[in-house]
Amino acid sequence: AQERAWRELCPDPSSLIGRTSVAVQDADADRLARRRDDVVAQVQEHYYAQPPRIERGWRHHLIDVDGRAYLDMVNNVAILGHGEPRLAHAVDAQMRRLNTNSRFHYGAIVELSERLASLAPDGLDTVMLVNSGSEAVDLALRIVRAVTGREDVLALTEAYHGWTIGADAVSTSLGDNPRALDTRPSWVHLLDAPNTYRGTHRGDDAHLYLPDALDRIAALDDAGVSLAGFIAEPLFGNGGGIALPDGYLAGVWAAIRARGGLCISDEVQVSYGRLGRHFWGFEQQGAVPDVITVAKAMGNGHPLGAVITSREVADAFAVEGSFFSSAGGSPVSCVVGTAVLDILESDGLQDNARVVGERLANGLRALAGAHPALGAVHGMGLYLGVEVVAGGPDAPDSAGAREICDALLDQGVIVQPTGDHKNVLKIKPPMTIDDAAVDRFLAALDRVLTWREARRA
Ligand code: PLP
Repeated sequence: AQERAWRELCPDPSSLIGRTSVAVQDADADRLARRRDDVVAQVQEHYYAQPPRIERGWRHHLIDVDGRAYLDMVNNVAILGHGEPRLAHAVDAQMRRLNTNSRFHYGAIVELSERLASLAPDGLDTVMLVNSGSEAVDLALRIVRAVTGREDVLALTEAYHGWTIGADAVSTSLGDNPRALDTRPSWVHLLDAPNTYRGTHRGDDAHLYLPDALDRIAALDDAGVSLAGFIAEPLFGNGGGIALPDGYLAGVWAAIRARGGLCISDEVQVSYGRLGRHFWGFEQQGAVPDVITVAKAMGNGHPLGAVITSREVADAFAVEGSFFSSAGGSPVSCVVGTAVLDILESDGLQDNARVVGERLANGLRALAGAHPALGAVHGMGLYLGVEVVAGGPDAPDSAGAREICDALLDQGVIVQPTGDHKNVLKIKPPMTIDDAAVDRFLAALDRVLTWREARRA
């Protein structure tokens, strides 16, 4: 009833962006938000000077405790947007019927697993369900190590794969952990990220990253290191969606496999059609991994993740290892996972990511042409990153990115900085976003950049 009353008061949250509506203010939520700081340990740094105190959401809008609406331009999980009633209905029905741990047999787990297997490339038809991306990555690492009987794993620099002990070991992003490169366990070996914007090989030289990688793998051979596997994102998530050089993954994966190792594609950020033209991130590299890790979008915010691999690898793991997750793949999680895929397909959100994403990228490129604070626009579909630079790639401007994010927040738009230098504006809205919202965002960014330039003049 409260929800209905709120919708009647505020049928169009976009009309509230940047304004406060006293009518939808929620005094209880305000009191809770004040108590939050006393009891909730937030280890991760905040992105904003004044983090918004969000209370509810509707599609690609969020509303804070004062009833102020924001355009949600960066949401890693809610691909369907917020407050999706079909998802709420699926959860409600399954929760009333059955929720239990996954030691039992029930239909929901079969339906979701079949659906994922049908979306994965041929041969990758076995699914293990967990609760998060970090768990999926930890499980994938355990699988490649158990199946090959080897310990060592190759990972890229500038990458983030999660917080659990295994995922953290292969996470190298200095933006998330400035000490990341000093604290690697001895079984983790690093390959320089093929960052074509800021790394050693740029522009036409990008193809040189592949021979460098093959040299690095050969050097590990010479040092007597037998790799169990290689983990990478198929698109640079941490860098704001920088594309890997053409043929890079195919070449590195072939070299790893030639030595008996297995290749993990971490699809936690880039899958589920967000790239527009492809459902999986690895498709745009034209290569097929041995193991896929996926989470985030899978549950639209409900904790859900998976490892997808071949029957052969899964069977070998069953002999050499063990795996059980109490709530991973619970009946409620599974109906959420299936409903997310149903809605994604029935609402044509992958096509929306392609079409609206193009409008967004073109608009951002036009702004980058007009405002010197913006450098390259990376990414594809609704997975974009905009460099904030003080002159060029070698002058990443993290203070500038922060200032722009704070000023956008003031304008009722949520964007966050990412990357090793925290200078890339990460733009990853719910896949429900439409032309009108994109235009509103571009106008707000234009205003903020013009205001900064006027202030400096
Ligand atoms: N892998 C990638 C590429 C990620 O970006 C993340 C989270 O940001 C993870 C794994 C970990 O996922 P989770 O936060 O669900 O544990």
